[in-house]
Amino acid sequence: MIGCKCEACLSNDPHDHRLRSSILIQDQDSTIVIDTGPDFRQQMLRAGVSKLDAVLYTHEHRDHIAGLDDIRSFNFLQKKSMDLYGEKRVLQSLRISFPYIFNENKYPGIPRVILHEIRNQPFSIQHTDFIPIRMLHYEMPVFGFRIRDFAYLVDANFISAEEKKKLHGIRQVVIGALRKEKHHSHFSLEEAVELFLELGADEAYITHISHQMGRRAAYEKLLPEGMRSSYDGLVLEI
Ligand SMILES: [Zn+2]
Ligand SMILES: [Zn+2]
Repeated sequence: MIGCKCEACLSNDPHDHRLRSSILIQDQDSTIVIDTGPDFRQQMLRAGVSKLDAVLYTHEHRDHIAGLDDIRSFNFLQKKSMDLYGEKRVLQSLRISFPYIFNENKYPGIPRVILHEIRNQPFSIQHTDFIPIRMLHYEMPVFGFRIRDFAYLVDANFISAEEKKKLHGIRQVVIGALRKEKHHSHFSLEEAVELFLELGADEAYITHISHQMGRRAAYEKLLPEGMRSSYDGLVLEI
């Protein structure tokens, strides 16, 4: 965190140096990113991504959409508009947050996008099938996503029993866990552990970790078998 002198922020362990939460999904010949936070540009440069087919949004909070402007590089490289997927409220928020992208008179060089509305129903982007998982982020409905036997569940602190049924049989799960103390809109470490055990997945990784969690070397010892802390650059085979 800017200006912070806590042990996590001052840590020499590169695993404690985190950018905002996002994942890149590579499936056959398609590349899809979930969320474009403020660090999107840096993340794309760091991961050497030279082709991106679509962006899928979990919700419209700034730390998940602020980097959208930088998809313009992919517009130039691929000579086409970027496909953006999100629920109606999220797409509306993109229009309000980036009015110049959606203006009638487009300034040359601005990002070019095509909006695709998703609902709480399975959908596909190119060859990849997604099952949305409705979750609550305090009172805001957000989406987690299941892809085959993998699920990405961030920015939430409630999933109904009905929605949890969609997670039956998953093997790998990424769960947002903000800190040890309870929080009004994110799972705490303990709640994330409970969810992992309840889902019965083989492996879990926590993400969206605040500096309040402390150093990875310490908090990771609190996790049960099968559960680890994610880190920037982690690659999973799903
Ligand atoms: Zn700090
Ligand atoms: Zn967030």
